[in-house]
Amino acid sequence: MKEITSAEFDQEVLAGGKVVLDFYSTECPPCEAVAPKFEGLAALYGKDISFVKMFRQQNKPLAERLGVRSSPTLLFFDNGVQSPVTLTGGIKRSDIIHQLDNMLSKERVEEIKKEIKPTVSEFDVLILGAGPGGLTAGLYLCQSKANTVLIDIALPGGQVSTTHEVSNYPGFIDPQPGYLLSHNMSEQTKQCGTIYKVAVDVTKIDLEKKEVVVDEFETIRAKKMIIATGTSPNLMGVPGEKELKGKGISYCATCDAKYYDDKEVIVIGGGNSAVEEADFISRFASKITMVHQFDALTANKQAQEKLLANQKISVLFSHEPRSFVRDGDKIITEVEDLKTKTVSKLVSDGVFVFIGMKPNIDLFRDKLALDQWGYIKTNEDMLTSMPGIYAVGDVISKKYRQITTAVADGTIAAIAIAKELN
Ligand SMILES: Cc1cc2nc3c(=O)[nH]c(=O)nc-3n(C[C@H](O)[C@H](O)[C@H](O)COP(=O)(O)OP(=O)(O)OC[C@H]3O[C@@H](n4cnc5c(N)ncnc54)[C@H](O)[C@@H]3O)c2cc1C
Repeated sequence: MKEITSAEFDQEVLAGGKVVLDFYSTECPPCEAVAPKFEGLAALYGKDISFVKMFRQQNKPLAERLGVRSSPTLLFFDNGVQSPVTLTGGIKRSDIIHQLDNMLSKERVEEIKKEIKPTVSEFDVLILGAGPGGLTAGLYLCQSKANTVLIDIALPGGQVSTTHEVSNYPGFIDPQPGYLLSHNMSEQTKQCGTIYKVAVDVTKIDLEKKEVVVDEFETIRAKKMIIATGTSPNLMGVPGEKELKGKGISYCATCDAKYYDDKEVIVIGGGNSAVEEADFISRFASKITMVHQFDALTANKQAQEKLLANQKISVLFSHEPRSFVRDGDKIITEVEDLKTKTVSKLVSDGVFVFIGMKPNIDLFRDKLALDQWGYIKTNEDMLTSMPGIYAVGDVISKKYRQITTAVADGTIAAIAIAKELN
């Protein structure tokens, strides 16, 4: 693999052949996450495709000319022509492979795939999920000198990284941007020496063997395992939702509210998340209509008072969405009045959904004792129904799901495990 500068770009990239170019930056965790994947794939595909990288900060004009706006960004060139596909952010190995395979013949791809050698690595502790629960467990275990690996299908940080502001995490006088709080948590755990495998595809989980396969070829085994996979937003399951997900229907205000400057939006839900996020969206949107199934909000009193004082927000109580349809730039939301059973249509520029969460347990649902809502049951040491398998954070059965409670669970599991390992 070669490091090049803008001066060498024409000769190394545009002169011909197949090239993949990685624009990276320093102090960039997603760049650090993609670097070993890029190197590994260079060894595999290097005979057919040139792998080059360029330091973005020192080659800014070229990066801008090529449309590179964030780091890392991977660009693909074939005979001097840039592919319209670019990869950026938490880039998965499978995403890069997909692009590389498209540049080669089917036969050659098959030959290359035969060269992939499965690997096996062993650790004291394997943590699945790098949100606050997993990161805290990783920190404590690392400080107790346990050889620990943290695996996440996304970049580290969990839900906190997409929360606009956190005002109730102790130790900070002012509210902290969620991305910053999660970044600091992640860097603290990483600096201690915990191994990170992030933005990977988790292709198999074997709880009996305490084994996880990532990116189809890398088996990671450990003496103990902690499940810290958190929760995902519930979907409404009404017609049009799947089709418009990410295309007008969003589940993350921090990610998408900024696209609704002076626009009208609908927020579905009435609990704490819905109320707090509606308040945040009102910094951008000109009008927000909340649709809530009950005849009163279920958020805490303080959040409710703030919401009701906000002139931009109104609430449609005792209503439920029935369908979503795109009409040009607008989304038509059909809502039913649960008391009168009449159906009406709301026109908006976008819809945000905050109707609760479900535990991320799909890959091991049948193996562990769960509560009636599907959350993992644990004892006071965070041990699950299986020996050596612990669970922490939002994915476990408990009353309150907060950053502080996830962090506390991670602490308890790590101390219990460290004692057992000793
Ligand atoms: C909109 C919103 C606002 C919030 N605001 C606050 C607040 O202000 N204060 C507060 O205290 N709490 C807040 N919370 C709650 C808080 O974010 C959670 O309680 C906390 O993040 C839980 O941490 P966790 O580590 O258990 O899980 P998460 O933060 O959900 O992290 C789980 C991690 O596991 C990963 N993962 C999932 N499946 C797999 C898999 N199969 N393999 C590997 N990795 C996987 C995910 O990618 C993720 O990184 C908020 C939540 C939301 C949704």
